[in-house]
Amino acid sequence: MRQYEDTYRHKGLRKNLITSLKQKGITDERVLEAINALPRHFFLDTAFDAIAYEDRAFPIGEGQTISQPYTVAYQTQLLEVKSFEKILEIGTGSAYQASVLAEMGAYVYTIERQKKLFDANKNFIFKSKYPHLKFFYGDGFEGLPTYAPFDKILITAAAPYIPVPLKAQLKVGGKMVIPVDEGNAQRMLRLTKENEEGSFREEAFDQFSFVPMLTGKRG
Ligand code: SAH
Repeated sequence: MRQYEDTYRHKGLRKNLITSLKQKGITDERVLEAINALPRHFFLDTAFDAIAYEDRAFPIGEGQTISQPYTVAYQTQLLEVKSFEKILEIGTGSAYQASVLAEMGAYVYTIERQKKLFDANKNFIFKSKYPHLKFFYGDGFEGLPTYAPFDKILITAAAPYIPVPLKAQLKVGGKMVIPVDEGNAQRMLRLTKENEEGSFREEAFDQFSFVPMLTGKRG
């Protein structure tokens, strides 16, 4: 059995990470508090223990990665998360981003298309700490119609386009943060649903590099 320990050294490294996220322009105190509260090294293989708080993405198996802390902070800040909001995340991966949202008091529904990554979260370490974080195995292009509508939707893989079902599953006034392909990189977009007819206000932000959002489930 793996021993999970959050030592003074880890906490110190996390403080430094928070300082560097602030320097890079992250200002939402609730986002910074959530990242400071979460031991990122618990979400990674023990081999990464010493470097878990570097502002880098790391492999989590199946060719996938845990997003860079700056990217997690950036997307979460754009999402303007409030306690008790119902949030759909596409691309569970390590469950780190989902945990940041749960730590901020949201009701989180997260979908993963890779069975192995989904199964790895069956023993999710913070299961009892975050009872409002729910895991689903499925194709994020379809969203979760049974649980819709959502206050917010967050996509953590490179989307080729904005999936229509996700637009439909957003509440009026709700926001979607999605990195959309632009050739070699993705443009971070924030859509705000303006009415039931489905008009959206679109804002464009910085470019990022995500692993691709792929259709269908993988067993
Ligand atoms: N949020 C994750 C980042 C994971 S990387 C974290 O905090 O660790 C993106 C993830 O999206 C990968 O695990 C990939 O398998 C998953 N993914 C890609 N396309 C998907 C889809 N259509 N539906 C659900 N998950 C998808």
